[in-house]
Amino acid sequence: MQFLEFARICEQLEGTPGRLDMIEQVAAVLPRLDDEELPVFVRFIMGRVFADWSSKKLGVGPNLLYEAVAYVIGTKRETVREAINATGDAGLAVEELLARKEQTSFFIQEMDLLEVYREFERMAAAEGQRSQREKLRTAQRLFGNARPLEGRYLARLMLEELRIGMGEGNVRDAVARAFELDVRLVEHAHQAMNDLGEVALLARQNPDELSRVTIEPFRPVKMMLAQAGTVAAQLEDHGEVAVEYKYDGSRFQFHKVGDVCRIYSRKLEEVTGSLPDIARQLLEATDHDVILDGEAVAVRDGRPMPFQFVIRRFRRKHEIDSMMEKIELVPRIFDILYLDGETLMDRPLAERRKALEGALGAHVAPQFRVGDAAGAEAIYTEALNLGHEGVMVKVLDSPYTPGVRGRLWVKVKPGVETLDLAVVGAEWGEGRRAKMFGSFLLAVQDQGRLLPVGKVATGITDEVLADLYTLFKEKVIARSGKEVTLEPEVVFEVGYSEIQTSPNYESGYALRFPRFVRVREDKSVDEVETLDTLAGRYRQQKNGQGSF
Ligand code: AMP
Repeated sequence: MQFLEFARICEQLEGTPGRLDMIEQVAAVLPRLDDEELPVFVRFIMGRVFADWSSKKLGVGPNLLYEAVAYVIGTKRETVREAINATGDAGLAVEELLARKEQTSFFIQEMDLLEVYREFERMAAAEGQRSQREKLRTAQRLFGNARPLEGRYLARLMLEELRIGMGEGNVRDAVARAFELDVRLVEHAHQAMNDLGEVALLARQNPDELSRVTIEPFRPVKMMLAQAGTVAAQLEDHGEVAVEYKYDGSRFQFHKVGDVCRIYSRKLEEVTGSLPDIARQLLEATDHDVILDGEAVAVRDGRPMPFQFVIRRFRRKHEIDSMMEKIELVPRIFDILYLDGETLMDRPLAERRKALEGALGAHVAPQFRVGDAAGAEAIYTEALNLGHEGVMVKVLDSPYTPGVRGRLWVKVKPGVETLDLAVVGAEWGEGRRAKMFGSFLLAVQDQGRLLPVGKVATGITDEVLADLYTLFKEKVIARSGKEVTLEPEVVFEVGYSEIQTSPNYESGYALRFPRFVRVREDKSVDEVETLDTLAGRYRQQKNGQGSF
């Protein structure tokens, strides 16, 4: 497939309002792609370049993109930046700029989808001091051969936001439809393989295998997530539940085969090198081949330390020894997904728990079985007394569902409710804060789109504002008056007093008294609150349910 054809498909999808029509269009394309193209197309159409389990990153920010486009059309970086500011969309601006170039140049080399992918691989592989130059050269080559419409989607792919509304759910449905399969089969394989591209290939080549796909060591799966909820509702629905402490640490997945182990962060980046103490403790605790799910907690004098200490260790790449002396991390393991060649994801939690206790000699997080509110409340109080965040309430017969934020795991914590939201824009501050951003535009996700729900300006000290400015200044995609559009990469945890319906924001909701709590450095934008769960919280709040 030519990249131009891919761009035309994207353009058509962008103009299609209905979800089912979009799925139909993508489903019609998939069967005619060859084996190499199919996985690449499936990832690209979701705005992703590499498999979700892969640690590979393009590492292209807006500045590099401006520079590459400027070079290609023979202008200054500022001109490109201004054009992007004027449209508010890097894709459209690049398209317009390339259209000007097209009138003057005669030679464009056709690019096909796989060539573009290989160039992206080259970019991701560039390392070290010269990496920025190499990435730039590759980007120049790509834009140099792009027609205007190709430029629109190349730019957006490089920023990994295609803006055509093909989220994971839609693409999964399109794969099922294209190869006439039950969507649950596709979903099952997707959860274990963590790459819809490869799942699509299997769906075509060997659909009978889809149900037998298993999780593999050193290929991390997405973490199972929790919804905010109440103990009462869980008890009512399930009779007996499992209650665990909710640790305020950082999530990790531990993979081990023989003496070799690797640790992955919640964003599925490999962090083994930063966490030698966690690796050592777990290697000592088991002789089995395992994939474990748990939380790394910082401890001092037997009491948990705040999350910030943990995340500092996760990011550390140098002088790990001295940092380890200051912040000791311990693992709290609460789940097991794989044991000696066997996938346990589809087994009920109660069974996985037994396997976990059998396989691991230490570091298993305590779990309590509870059938009544008084029992749950006692554990909740104890959790808070011990310095934990609250409790997790889990359904005993539930499978492990990677990447799903369902009601099988429910988190209960005291105090104000918080939401994790994507930061998609900002506004310059005033007075003392004139040289920084003073407020931030927040969004929920809905099928691959980010829909604003409000702005947050309170709860941020001057010091934090300065840090946030440093964090965001490289992510500005467009400016208009006092407002800027940001590359959506950062997640804020935000407190609020109430969710209201509102015509002012695209999501249809707004937050009353939003308050900044912290940057969720461990979360990526595809993990932020969805429009559906926000609506659920809105309804729950209207029904007057408290948190217990
Ligand atoms: P949140 O980050 O607020 O969505 O809460 C869910 C997170 O709590 C998980 O992703 C884990 O990192 C963390 N967590 C702490 N303790 C547990 C536990 N016992 N079981 C599952 N997750 C836990």
